[in-house]
Amino acid sequence: MANEIRTFGDPVLKSRATPVKDFDESLKRLSEDMFRIMRENEGVGLAANQIGRLKRIFVASLDDEDYAIVNPKLEERSEATEKDVEGCLSVPGIGVEVERPAAVTVTGQDPEGNPVRVAAEGRLARIFQHEIDHLDGVLFLDRTDRGSRKRAMREWRERLLNESTPASA
Ligand code: ZN
Repeated sequence: MANEIRTFGDPVLKSRATPVKDFDESLKRLSEDMFRIMRENEGVGLAANQIGRLKRIFVASLDDEDYAIVNPKLEERSEATEKDVEGCLSVPGIGVEVERPAAVTVTGQDPEGNPVRVAAEGRLARIFQHEIDHLDGVLFLDRTDRGSRKRAMREWRERLLNESTPASA
């Protein structure tokens, strides 16, 4: 099956997604598709941009808990920050250290339109911030320092080069 996930270089990843107004069947289907694609690719989060849809919705899954948040907003963020290595399904194989607030509260709606509010810390807080960044057209590579970004770009180019080289032997 063709990979449904848009990868680095695709302009949709640099685009801002627009707020969801209609909480209809197609939105429910979109969130189901996103959960499926996230799981098939063994991800912990996926934003709509990553499958080419510019709607403000992301899904995430951690410790057997599923989240589908529409029109998410970072309501609160802790002053304390944490550094950890992040990856992204749109930049497969690349990991960089990103510093982010250690705890956040995210508000928004579920795919049925009911209000949601989730206080998250640690890994979940990191995932939420990473996905909301996607909806604003921001990649984790934009959140790291120059050196790490350069290194990641070099690795990425090498990866593409290797993939396009026909296997010998
Ligand atoms: Zn990502």
